[in-house]
Amino acid sequence: MNSPELRPGPPSSRGKSLTLAVFIDALGAEVAERHGFLEGHLETRARVDTVLGYSCTCVPTILTGRLPEEHGHFSFFRFDPERSPFRGLEWLRFMPKAVTSRARVRNAISKVVGSYLGFNGYFNLYNVPFERLPYLDYTERKDLYEPGGIIEGQETLFDHMRSERISFALADWRANEASNVEALGRAIRSREVDFAYLYLARLDGIMHAAGPEDDAASAHIRGYEQTILRMVDLAHKNYDQVRLHVFSDHGMTPIRETVDIRSRIDALGLTFGRDYGAVYDSTMARFWYLREGVQGRIEDALRHCAQGRWFEAQQQKLAGCHFEDARYGEGMFLLNPGVLLCPSDMGERPIAGMHGYHPADADSTAFFGSTETIAPPRRLDGLHDLLLGSARENSALRSEAA
Ligand SMILES: [Zn+2]
Repeated sequence: MNSPELRPGPPSSRGKSLTLAVFIDALGAEVAERHGFLEGHLETRARVDTVLGYSCTCVPTILTGRLPEEHGHFSFFRFDPERSPFRGLEWLRFMPKAVTSRARVRNAISKVVGSYLGFNGYFNLYNVPFERLPYLDYTERKDLYEPGGIIEGQETLFDHMRSERISFALADWRANEASNVEALGRAIRSREVDFAYLYLARLDGIMHAAGPEDDAASAHIRGYEQTILRMVDLAHKNYDQVRLHVFSDHGMTPIRETVDIRSRIDALGLTFGRDYGAVYDSTMARFWYLREGVQGRIEDALRHCAQGRWFEAQQQKLAGCHFEDARYGEGMFLLNPGVLLCPSDMGERPIAGMHGYHPADADSTAFFGSTETIAPPRRLDGLHDLLLGSARENSALRSEAA
């Protein structure tokens, strides 16, 4: 957690009102209810529709209250040789694959490349073949939580709080959970923040690796409950009024089977970068057609693939991810829930859990819970107003008391 962004407030023995906003990555409604998450402590519990995409799509949606096609964030990579920051890094492809296919090695390379390119957002090269990098653009170049982090320039709820001089504490997504919890404790004891945002990301990684039904996930969820209740308790000792809002960005679907889309496209004998462009996410393949006749061949190659379907413009519009300029692909092939694209640009090997399916998939649905009796958000973009409204109320109470 960054040191809280403190605004000079009136000296007070106790704080007036604090909102604890706890964001648990991938704690879907299915998993939350199966575990009776914080049962007996929440007045409101609800299923919240996610948006199609990954955390890099969902988080900007929560922070801005806008849909992907409005804020511009949908996936990390897109085909765009002109804007590729990776030109000049072609030499990476000469590194032996036995070395570079190891996750640890790729993470280390990602760190060096990301800082060399001056990115301060989350950056990872994942499993993108190095020879394709010079054709690809990376979208999350800036820190989403800092001013100017959103591609289309919208203000986030934190930007609003900054300009309205509402004091808040914000978790540092680069730090681990324990140090973020510790920093949150310090912020609460300072009594100087009206809003505290805790980001818990570890459960997502655990469920990717072991699946949402594994004991490791259950144990971690029980740990979250204890941590949250401890923080709420600490908040009550320091503030007159405490509100807890706990929410996720999406759920986690158990993987039943994998499908190798890349090989089917490679088998067409087309040349990447000359005939077509492609990005293979974990649950969708996106294509750019660079020559006449290519579109039909690629569409035909996947038409009878039973593990997914072409996700047409009309469906994209309903899901809020139809980009008029086709910046994330002219064609989008979306896999059915529980099917993993493997290998993909995101990973070489199968994993046990994944998200990024159609929002109608029950396992993809996000969770919202609150200690208040309130109307819950219906979809992820509804969280923005709810959280910001809560922070504003607290700030007004503090000003009244001054
Ligand atoms: Zn994830």
